[in-house]
Amino acid sequence: MEVIFPDWPGLHPDAPDPRPTILVPFPRDLPALAQDQRVVLDSGAFSMSFLPQADRPDVAGWMMQLADWYRMARAMYGDALRWVVAPDVFGDPRATLAQWQQWQSIAPDITAAPVIQLWPKKPLDLFTIQGQARAYGAQRVVMLSNPARMTAARWGRTLEDACDLIRRHCGPTCHIHLLGAGWSLTDIALYRHIPNLSSIDSITYYLAAQRGERWCRCCTPDTPWPDAAMHPAQVIAQR
Ligand SMILES: [Zn+2]
Repeated sequence: MEVIFPDWPGLHPDAPDPRPTILVPFPRDLPALAQDQRVVLDSGAFSMSFLPQADRPDVAGWMMQLADWYRMARAMYGDALRWVVAPDVFGDPRATLAQWQQWQSIAPDITAAPVIQLWPKKPLDLFTIQGQARAYGAQRVVMLSNPARMTAARWGRTLEDACDLIRRHCGPTCHIHLLGAGWSLTDIALYRHIPNLSSIDSITYYLAAQRGERWCRCCTPDTPWPDAAMHPAQVIAQR
């Protein structure tokens, strides 16, 4: 199980970057990658889910801009671009499937990884997961959205069963990524024991640095957090 590192906006220190793969949401500026670093791009749907309905952009217009951003990234990064995430709707499996179909007609040239969503009131519902996995069929990469900041302990066996179901419907070699997971070092460590779970993305490394935690001997409370965050990232990447 691999950990992917959501990037933060703004300047990066010149120090070596220990993050093997970063995750960048639309509509950020596409960052320059460090040597041998790779990137995953996300639609930005998660942060949009916090906007009031009236302030959300028109869906077709957003998808067209997103498709252009993905095309620009493909030209800029080449093989360093691992995958891009389909424009989903956080917490709404039905709307997510509808937008998946809309995406196929708006951007047929861009293969995006589909997202399996759960209803917030039924965060452990395998039936909902199975329905979407079956609808997506064979895929190279599939995202499972982590509802309501669940921990690995709360998922329990359900996550193993969910990954088995996704493999059954989306293919035995499909890469399964759990979006938005790993809220502490212990939580990240528990996901490493889930068979068939390929990767998660965790913001714990920079949240800890922002809170003033220092996991290394070299940084002090006065070290700017963007510099200090590279050290927890290194700790997580090396485990
Ligand atoms: Zn340090």
